Amino acid sequence: MLNKQTPFLRRALLLALLCCGFLLAPPSHAASSHDFHFEVSRGDVFYKFFFKTGLPGKLLKKLMTADDRAQRLAHISPGDKFRIILDNNHGLKKIIFQPLNANPLLITYSKDTFRFFSINIQPTKPLTSSTIIITKSLNYDGKNAGIESSVIDLMITNFSWEMDFSRDLYKNDKFVLFWNGEKTPSAIIYIGARKTLALFAYTDKTGRKKYYDITGKTLNDTFNFAPLKYSRISSGFQKMRLHPLLNTWRSHRGTDFVAPSGRPVYAPAKGVVKHVASLRGYGNVIYLNHGNKLTTVYAHLSKFAHGLKSTKKIRKGQLIGYVGSTGMSTGPHLHYEIRINGIHQDVEKIKLPKKLSVPTSALGSFKSKAKLLLSQLGIKQLNNLN
Ligand SMILES: [Zn+2]
Repeated sequence: MLNKQTPFLRRALLLALLCCGFLLAPPSHAASSHDFHFEVSRGDVFYKFFFKTGLPGKLLKKLMTADDRAQRLAHISPGDKFRIILDNNHGLKKIIFQPLNANPLLITYSKDTFRFFSINIQPTKPLTSSTIIITKSLNYDGKNAGIESSVIDLMITNFSWEMDFSRDLYKNDKFVLFWNGEKTPSAIIYIGARKTLALFAYTDKTGRKKYYDITGKTLNDTFNFAPLKYSRISSGFQKMRLHPLLNTWRSHRGTDFVAPSGRPVYAPAKGVVKHVASLRGYGNVIYLNHGNKLTTVYAHLSKFAHGLKSTKKIRKGQLIGYVGSTGMSTGPHLHYEIRINGIHQDVEKIKLPKKLSVPTSALGSFKSKAKLLLSQLGIKQLNNLN
């Protein structure tokens, strides 16, 4: 049965395959026996075609375990086509799998390594864009520009790792959003008076769409487990415990790391200083914000790192203070808390977001698409190089 798209798909397939041939095969005088063409009939299996070319079973095994995408070769249907191309020594050079109703797959083999290239020939919708110009706030001006609140949340969640929306945003700063027909943008670019930040969507093989900077990394950070070298955990996260000094039942909403007084404490991830204070219970305490949802707290410090003050940007691993026993404390230790949207989490159990990267195999095309968008906006320099 043919659907309406078939003629288009055929033409596109042909075009894609011509491109592959053009890019990957230098003009050669290879004998025709080195270029095998197959079409799948009912009941056919891929290995039948593979063995017809005279290639060994060991290589087939290697191919099938080289990449998840090799599994596509185990699910072939009548009408699908294969080309298996060998070099002059009868070694495998490449396989072009051209299914009837899906995107083609190109597999190359050289230096004992298989490389897989999925060729995307789906017609992509033309890019459209929307611009938010800041007059009051991102929420206010975004709404006026017709941007859904879920998209605004997404922008804040991502950009908050690099900017503070309550402080870094100025009148006439711009956000440009690019769309390719999906509910969430394909790129979000902030053009401010002082800096430019750009994020580009990438959807991985499992369908997960995330935003990455031009180097292919998400703006969020991966946390170190502990912010210091510690001897042991003396008290974990507990709903209720007998407070050692007050002798009353209290919950312990952090983790106590035992370490000698003066032991350096380092930021477990990049962030911004929210508070530096001396409080009765916490003693000398630092609050760090990481993005717009995560806060970490460091209490009972003997002293703070030099020059530490609120709104200061902190790198991962940067010294922030020293272990002490200030406030209500029975001995030198670091009381450490992680809060998400203000809610205390168990440091030893909480799964925190990790910094993600665009896979190496997709990085080249990701970067060229990103650069193309930036050049369309006349942007030459970005500040969010992690
Ligand atoms: Zn504690």
